[in-house]
Formats: sequence, structure tokens, C-alpha cells
Amino acid sequence: MKMNKNYLNLQDSYLFSTIAKKVAEYQAQNPEKKPIRLGIGDVTLPLVPAVVAAMQAAVAQMSCKATFRGYGPEQGYDFLRQAIAGYYAAHGVTVDAGDVFVSDGAKSDLGNILDLFDVENTVLIPDPVYPVYVDTNIMAGRRIVYMNANEENGFLPLPNVGIQADIIYLCSPNNPTGAVYNHEQLKAWVDYALANNAVVLFDAAYEAFIQDETLPRSIYEIEGAKQCAIEFCSLSKTAGFTGTRCGYTIVPAELTVEGEPLRKFWLRRQATKFNGVPYVVQCGAQAVFGEAGQRQIKANIAVYQENAKIISGTLREMGVWFTGGENSPYIWLKCPSGMTSWEFFDRLLTECSVVGTPGSGFGKNGEGFFRLTAFGDKAATEIAMKRLQKLF
Ligand code: PLP
Repeated sequence: MKMNKNYLNLQDSYLFSTIAKKVAEYQAQNPEKKPIRLGIGDVTLPLVPAVVAAMQAAVAQMSCKATFRGYGPEQGYDFLRQAIAGYYAAHGVTVDAGDVFVSDGAKSDLGNILDLFDVENTVLIPDPVYPVYVDTNIMAGRRIVYMNANEENGFLPLPNVGIQADIIYLCSPNNPTGAVYNHEQLKAWVDYALANNAVVLFDAAYEAFIQDETLPRSIYEIEGAKQCAIEFCSLSKTAGFTGTRCGYTIVPAELTVEGEPLRKFWLRRQATKFNGVPYVVQCGAQAVFGEAGQRQIKANIAVYQENAKIISGTLREMGVWFTGGENSPYIWLKCPSGMTSWEFFDRLLTECSVVGTPGSGFGKNGEGFFRLTAFGDKAATEIAMKRLQKLF
């Protein structure tokens, strides 16, 4: 018996456990203080009424023999896939409902999609990055090359002549940097992928936070993207589904690799290894895309956007360099006075009683940077920013 030795190549992630340990020590030494948490990547507002009502109605259906449902289609119920295609259409993008695959979230699909690709492919990943892209490829034993995201390129790396890659990860709006690609920049990636027979895995988990209507919410806004890109999206941050679990992936019928249609094989993979998202959850997800649902989730997102505005406004006043904040719930700042990410973390915690996330935890280019998130509440965010301003 041999195990998958690639797992031995995974680096232990100490980021969030070290943060938790430092905060616990600080609280033990300062029991009167209650740290403000601006490091969390989880939502804090509850499901909206339209979603709750739809899920309650679905539970009632499940409790009655005449309306009970057992296994559903692996790809998701047609009513939800149509609703998702309708959501794209409302933003001017044509997506065939047949290309939509409903899942229990973007994280699963981002990992599972790799089943379709040979282990000999080279993977291109930005640094800093959402760690899932790195770890899932290490588990499979694929070669990873990193592209530098940094202050010079505004944390939005573009293809350059020396790059050779088969699978390219892009995340826009980005976690952790909050940076968002514009049309021209995304077109450069689509053109690169088409010219090099590469596939782009485009993570749009934060598309709902884009306020600037000139910025692309979907890679399919770019001509040619259906021939080279798979898009992953999630209701986690869009509609507070982090605990409810629902996402969707678009695998266009036009996308082929070595003449083989990826959509056909993704369906085959899902039908073999996945038995679908709960009916009750899919009914709740459908409500997200309805008129009331859209109005209600936008009101929740506006609360987070207001927090992001408070944080980015304060940093601007302080003259601190940052990305994100306007079209993203993440704000990525350059630590003042040349501090390292952890030095800044310690000072923020001990002198302001504010918790954030050290950028160095997301890759080597994150050193000297720091992530704040807009998922907290407004009053606490305001207090945290006043303290920060006073300290520096
Ligand atoms: N992609 C990015 C960039 C994320 O930040 C997250 C969650 O934090 C996910 C995907 C995972 O989303 P889900 O909750 O749908 O699995």
C-alpha cells in the first residue's frame, strides 16, 4: 500500500492558527479589551428574507409525499440553472443554461476541476494568492510556476513573453488583494490562453462587489473567453451562503482541449462523484436571483461596501498605499514605516486592539502587506479606523 506522497509536499498553514493564538494571548493579558476583528473572510449578515421564505417553502414540500424530492439532477435543477443564466443575461453576458453546473460552493469545484487535466500540465498561479489553488495542485503533483503580483503592477499581473503555462488561475475581484482586472487586462489573458492552448480558471466569487460598471464581472465579457475559460462563482459572499453552501461553475460547450469537449467530461465527472446540492438549498439559491432576492442581497452588500469605504477612505487620508476596497470586500495595504506583515499585525493588535491578516500568509509577495476585510459591522469598523489613524 502506498499513499499519495504529494501530500507530504504540502506546507502547513500556520496563518490563521497563529493569529488565533496571538489574539488569545492578548485577551488573556488584557481581559478588559475586546479586539475588533477586521481579518475575517466570512460574512456576518444573515440570509435575506426572500431566501429564507423559499427555503421554508421547500422544506414544506419535502415534508409531503406528493411534493417530496429525492435525488436531483447532478448538474443542478433546471429552475436554478435558468435563473443563473438569467443573472448573466442581466449583465449583458450570454450563458447557456446547459453550461451551468450547480455545486456546493466554489472551493469544491476549484479543486475537483483538476480531475479533467493531466498531471503533466504546468500551472500558473499569482503570488499572493487564495491558497486553495496552490494546495490542490500540490496534492495532484502538478508543477506550479508563480507570477509576481506586486505594487508595480497593482497586484494585477499580466502575461509576459517568458511565461509557459497550461492552466492559469485568475481571481478578480481578488482575494486577498481586492484588485480587479479591467477589460483590456482580461483580454490580454484570454488572448494569451487562446494563443498557447491554455485554460483559464477564472474565480469570480466576489463579482457581486463590483460597483464600477466599466469593470468586467465575468470573463465571458471578453471575446474568445468561451473557447478558453471556465468560470467559478459562489453565493457565499454574494448572498451569505458560506454556511448554506451553493455555488456554480460555467463550462462552455465551446471549450475543447485536444479536440475533446470539457463540458461533457465535467458532466461525466460530476455524475460519477457528486450527487447534487440539496433541493432546499437550490430553492434558496433560486430566490437570490429573483427580484426581491436581488434587492435584498444588494442591501446587505451595500453594508459591507460602506465598511470598505470607511477603511479605504481612512487609508487614503493617511497616505497609505492600498488596493481594493471599492469593488471588493478586501483592502490590501502596504504596512506603514516599512514594517513586516507580522510586525504590523502585532502593533495593530497591542496598540489598537484590532485584528487583521498578515499579507505574508498568502505568498512571498505578501510580505510587507496586510489584508483588512469589510465583513464586520460599521460601528466597529469606524472605531478601528479611528484608532489606526491615531497610531500612525
Ligand atoms: N474563491 C475565493 C477567492 C474565495 O475567497 C473563497 C472563499 O473564501 C472561495 C472561492 C470559496 O467559496 P465557497 O464558499 O463557495 O466554497
